[in-house]
Amino acid sequence: MNIPFLDLGAAYRELQPEIDAAVARTLASGYYIGGPEVEAFEDEFATYCGASHAVGVANGLDALHLTLRAMGVGPGDEVIVPSNTYIATWLAVSQCGATPVAVEPNERTYNIDPELIEAAITPRTRIIMPVHLYGQPADMDPILAIARKHGLRVLEDGAQAHGARYKGQRLGAHGDAVAWSFYPGKNLGAMGDGGAITTNDAQLADRLRVLRNYGSRVKYVNEVQGYNSRLDPLQAAILRVKLAHLDEWNARRQTIAARYQAAFELVITSKARQSTARTVLPYVPAWASPVWHLFVIRTPQRDALQQHLTEASIGSLIHYPIPPHLQQAYAAMGHKPGSFPIAEAIADEVLSLPIGPHLAATDTDAVIEAMERFQHA
Ligand SMILES: *Cc1c(COP(=O)(O)O)cnc(C)c1O
Repeated sequence: MNIPFLDLGAAYRELQPEIDAAVARTLASGYYIGGPEVEAFEDEFATYCGASHAVGVANGLDALHLTLRAMGVGPGDEVIVPSNTYIATWLAVSQCGATPVAVEPNERTYNIDPELIEAAITPRTRIIMPVHLYGQPADMDPILAIARKHGLRVLEDGAQAHGARYKGQRLGAHGDAVAWSFYPGKNLGAMGDGGAITTNDAQLADRLRVLRNYGSRVKYVNEVQGYNSRLDPLQAAILRVKLAHLDEWNARRQTIAARYQAAFELVITSKARQSTARTVLPYVPAWASPVWHLFVIRTPQRDALQQHLTEASIGSLIHYPIPPHLQQAYAAMGHKPGSFPIAEAIADEVLSLPIGPHLAATDTDAVIEAMERFQHA
């Protein structure tokens, strides 16, 4: 038995007739850039997120970068980012010529710690960028309160959290804007690259529509030096199909996460606990309805556990093995090991277990059994 970390082929097989029809319809439409599929997806995704506007772009990194540009971020500006995130969050800031200023996560939620944000604010700070990491919403209310107090804007990185709720409200318009990725492995994934921004700010949405299209509103009239960053109509048509299944697929992830939680709690509170180092399970605050993009456990025996799972033919991944501040790409910033010790400890100890809408119940059982064998070894 082989249990892959994520089975994207199974997602296609479940929806094949619908997806094939959407692709055929788009090919026959004659619209290969923009057009009705992109517009329809933007409308449907905005409605789903409870936001007034959605703007499709080429990928999640562009969604972040273009929004920072549209907010006027440039050289000399500082943007507050989590130390514990995928590097795209930081790169979007760097691409504007601005400086990413990292803030450590809360150890229980892995998301940016609102209590540490104010100490990182300087006269150059323009934006706070929380990331809803692993599909768990960041604690938005204190972040928004700090932003209001200091006159900052908030751009959320929602790449891992399509459908997640904060205090009952779907992510999409808590801050000034949310940037989304439709990379195939995300909860709402295309069959190629894709991204979008949702916002209630009509002016910001308008600027984004101009920026993504060469800085042009009227053909061959260029107001600003823009970009070529479009959501492909084929991907939009596929995303429309998948959006209709997102809640159901997130619910399946929720079922798997609940089974993991219940089983692992038993394992780590059993007698094995004395003989094995502490294993930390995901923590869900009362205000959070996560969508389990990843099921991340933390243990000092991470490498041995991953080896054990590999030997049992169970896929697992580390999100992420090297935090952005220690990447060679950011060597010039002068961060050292120890600069952000919480992010570094997380990078050394986290492991993501298989989870997804197509992980069979028998496979979930097999992962649980393999975990039990490891804890009792
Ligand atoms: C996937 C991801 C991105 C980037 O998305 P792409 O579509 O791959 O450009 C940005 N931020 C986070 C947190 C992500 O997980």
